[in-house]
Amino acid sequence: MTALADLLRRRIAATGPLTLADYMADCLLHPDHGYYATRDPFGAAGDFTTAPEISQMFGELLGLCLAQAWLDQGAPAPFTLTELGPGRGTLMADLLRATRAVPGFHTAARVTLVEASATLRGIQRRTLGDHPVTWADTVEALPDAPLFLIANEFFDALPIRQFTRHMNGWAETVVGLDGDRLTLGRTPPAPLAALDHRLSDTAPGEIVEICPAAAPIMGRIGGLIARHGGAALVIDYGGWHSRGDTFQALQDHRPTDPLAAPGHADLTAHVDFEPLARAAAPARASRMIEQGALLQRLGIDQRAARLAQSLTGAAQESHLAAHRRLTDRAEMGSLFKALAVYPPHLPPPPGFDA
Ligand code: SAH
Repeated sequence: MTALADLLRRRIAATGPLTLADYMADCLLHPDHGYYATRDPFGAAGDFTTAPEISQMFGELLGLCLAQAWLDQGAPAPFTLTELGPGRGTLMADLLRATRAVPGFHTAARVTLVEASATLRGIQRRTLGDHPVTWADTVEALPDAPLFLIANEFFDALPIRQFTRHMNGWAETVVGLDGDRLTLGRTPPAPLAALDHRLSDTAPGEIVEICPAAAPIMGRIGGLIARHGGAALVIDYGGWHSRGDTFQALQDHRPTDPLAAPGHADLTAHVDFEPLARAAAPARASRMIEQGALLQRLGIDQRAARLAQSLTGAAQESHLAAHRRLTDRAEMGSLFKALAVYPPHLPPPPGFDA
């Protein structure tokens, strides 16, 4: 039994079942026992692998996309260059290396990483070497300035609430106790104003999820971009008006029971891009596009061919496999989607459609 499981059991016994959001928040970010607070979960030795850990091309191409958007807006200086949930810092390192030759970009950039985990902040510091960087706890702390931002697999880590549709209301999935064991249950159905708009596109028995923290975060980002200029690129797995049970746990690269070992498995849910796009107003949101298509529009095939020329044998094989993994529709290419947020009256960043 984990220490966190024990804490959660006592909390449920004292105050009743927890929403999935409360459960996820403790499992991921509890300061002493939370998943991200206690480890480096990435890579072959960890629990899961993300696009920047698969290939340097991911951070390079998205970095150049942001830099081009910055040039197209007249190279505002200074500006905030932000990543949400930077993990090991690999994406930001690749982005900074790829944009070194963009005149004025580094001098004008104030790099601010939004990261909740002290452990991961330490790893990001090491990855980024002596590049000047500051950290923020939340997007509320970002300054009133032009904002160029990237978030890969950040929104999927935010806590969700999950509801099952009934005739005229919604039953919420909760974590309760069966004797000593954590177990999933449902509240009695009741109307919920936040889901009124889903009554028309769902039928009884269907499941929908909402991510209460996502809209305020996107609202802050959209507000800064509309007022001061900038662009935000959001990449994650999910869809548009998603439905169904997407709450999942990964441990050692395999799906596992999300209740089995709280604090020891990564918990995520698919991202619904529709409310994210809506929350960006008064900034504009691009159309949602598949990751594979976006990377191809940004030139990944040419970049991959260039890099392949300088590699041989196993290194070349693994480089080609990484290219496929990022772009192939059977791999990450279509499961992962991208959305850009940009100022009203301007075209979207390169690769995105209005
Ligand atoms: N972007 C990275 C890591 C994704 S994992 C990559 O692509 O490899 C999710 C990251 O978000 C981790 O760094 C985690 O610590 C951070 N995180 C999760 N919830 C957060 C929150 N509420 N506030 C700030 N950071 C958070």
